[in-house]
Amino acid sequence: MGYLEGFGVTLKQIFGDRVTTQYPKQKAPKPERAHGRHVLNRYEDGMEKCIGCELCAGVCPARCIYVRGADNPIDDPVSPGERYGYVYEINYLRCIHCDMCVEACPTEAITETKLFEFSFTNRLDAIYTKDELLVDDEGRPRRLPWEDWRPGEEIPTSAWMRATAPAGNAAFEGVVAWSGELGFGVREPEPDQAHADTSVAPLAGSGSHDHGETDHGHGGGH
Ligand code: SF4
Ligand code: SF4
Repeated sequence: MGYLEGFGVTLKQIFGDRVTTQYPKQKAPKPERAHGRHVLNRYEDGMEKCIGCELCAGVCPARCIYVRGADNPIDDPVSPGERYGYVYEINYLRCIHCDMCVEACPTEAITETKLFEFSFTNRLDAIYTKDELLVDDEGRPRRLPWEDWRPGEEIPTSAWMRATAPAGNAAFEGVVAWSGELGFGVREPEPDQAHADTSVAPLAGSGSHDHGETDHGHGGGH
């Protein structure tokens, strides 16, 4: 390539659209399925979705989740199931954001936001406790002092879709199953899921697949 052609490439880039941003003052939009720090979700009536089953901890390849379940108080249950997550901690010094915990959770209690912009000066701050992970009364992630949330960033954090059919039943392939969650409701399917068949009846005992409603029966169904 001659000099003139080389300058031509440079000039083209100077006057072309910029793909970079002035980070961190300006952030680029995050991909729809980016994996960031987790939230523990609640039902729209405020009950916690976590039933303390420890499946997320068992599947985690980084061994960074610690869960202790406890029986729900009869007079003041925390979750709709028999048990709830009494202790819940995630160590972000170890998490690799693989989303295995999200896939394993039978009640869609744990999901990942897109926030990755957080840092710590204290190692203990890297261990998020249940109080920090649990969504607030409006279903939004709690904004912790060391996290860089910008307006609107907490909105596309909730709801997810099962990548595969529940229990592997082929009849559910392509069935949209956005979870209704506190404060967010049900998300629209992504473009390539818009054709999905939502008329398939659920398996007996698999809980409701009425995608628009909060379903406390998810816990034991899948
Ligand atoms: S995203 Fe992966 S590494 Fe992180 S807590 Fe979940 S299972 Fe563990
Ligand atoms: S798998 Fe889900 S319900 Fe079970 S302990 Fe983990 S977050 Fe709670």
